[in-house]
Amino acid sequence: MITVHDGQCGTCTYFGADHSDEPKLVQIRITHKAEPDLVEPCGHPEHRPLDLQVTPVSGCAGYTPAKVA
Ligand code: SF4
Repeated sequence: MITVHDGQCGTCTYFGADHSDEPKLVQIRITHKAEPDLVEPCGHPEHRPLDLQVTPVSGCAGYTPAKVA
């Protein structure tokens, strides 16, 4: 497992796009731990047309903290 910090995709509301409420993704926001090989789509409106795929420790200036449970 890798550690996910505030400001990184794993704790962003757009991580996982339309399925960000999946238990696996919610757990990342709670524990700040993620599988190292996890890749998810980003649902940010500016990234959707590009089908951007990100890891929990990626990041960008569009970061928006997700609500934790
Ligand atoms: S790429 Fe940016 S907007 Fe998308 S999940 Fe990561 S931090 Fe959030």
